[in-house]
Amino acid sequence: MNSSPAQLLSAQNVNQLLDSVQAFLFDCDGVIWKGDKLIDGVPETLHTLRSKGKKLVFVTNNSTKSRSQYANKFLSLGISVTEDEIFSSSFAAAMYLQLINFPQHKKVYVIGEQGILEELQLAGFTALGGPEDGKKTAQLKSNCLFEHDKSVGAVVVGLDQYINYYKLQYGTLCIRENPGCLFIATNRDAVGHMTDLQEWPGAGCMVAAICGSTQKEPIVVGKPSNFLMEFLLKKFDISCSKMCMVGDRLDTDILFGQNAGCRTLLVLSGVTTESVLQDPSNKTQPEYYTSKVSDMLDLLRP
Ligand code: PLP
Ligand code: CA
Repeated sequence: MNSSPAQLLSAQNVNQLLDSVQAFLFDCDGVIWKGDKLIDGVPETLHTLRSKGKKLVFVTNNSTKSRSQYANKFLSLGISVTEDEIFSSSFAAAMYLQLINFPQHKKVYVIGEQGILEELQLAGFTALGGPEDGKKTAQLKSNCLFEHDKSVGAVVVGLDQYINYYKLQYGTLCIRENPGCLFIATNRDAVGHMTDLQEWPGAGCMVAAICGSTQKEPIVVGKPSNFLMEFLLKKFDISCSKMCMVGDRLDTDILFGQNAGCRTLLVLSGVTTESVLQDPSNKTQPEYYTSKVSDMLDLLRP
């Protein structure tokens, strides 16, 4: 863990950073956009980095969308990004199951939204639950058992706006009644920008509910997991020291980059304020910090 104080990004150190980095890993919310609003200067900055030959990768813990839905979101904000540059925690869940050779005959129960279902199906897995179960209600009758599919071998939990008692019981039974059933969390963010003006309870809240009922801890596949970083490193074949993780959260983004030995840049356009960063009790320090990504561009200008 790096505890030396973060340096403010400056005209001097931005050149050194750019010269030594081949790939930028961008967190999305708080860096590229806030809810559905683009952050100032982002398209120009990404364009300049691309024109300098930098590889750009977008890593989001928000599991509600699939990579193709994210590519559309980027496009709607006037930024052209291909699906293979996007790594969402929904995709990470599917890739994790693929990596461990999760048997195709077993099913995956989802407490989460369309993004997870779509990525699991694209990877060839049979997914149950998700938005459809949001309409179901648990029948609490003394003479009837709550039934669940015994071929479920994994429960994936992400942000779910339609979480209900039915889904909690379903996921809980799958895990409690089958000791081999995997419990996977897309991420554990406490809150998320479901709207641009306000934070809302994040996936961490849904994950905590299942931890509570099963007394089990999940395998986390989104930031700051080593699984996701190793997956990215294998995919791009770039050494960690030539990658820079740009994010707005210390406990997900900066930790994610730092654990792997990447360069790190914290932007103050999201959830972290300068006073939180400077607080002596905060042990995670990025290498650099700045107010927003487009400062990179402004500092480069002669
Ligand atoms: N999860 C949810 C539901 C969110 O709404 C957000 C941000 O809006 C996040 C996670 C964090 O996403 P990111 O990793 O892009 O900051
Ligand atoms: Ca973020």
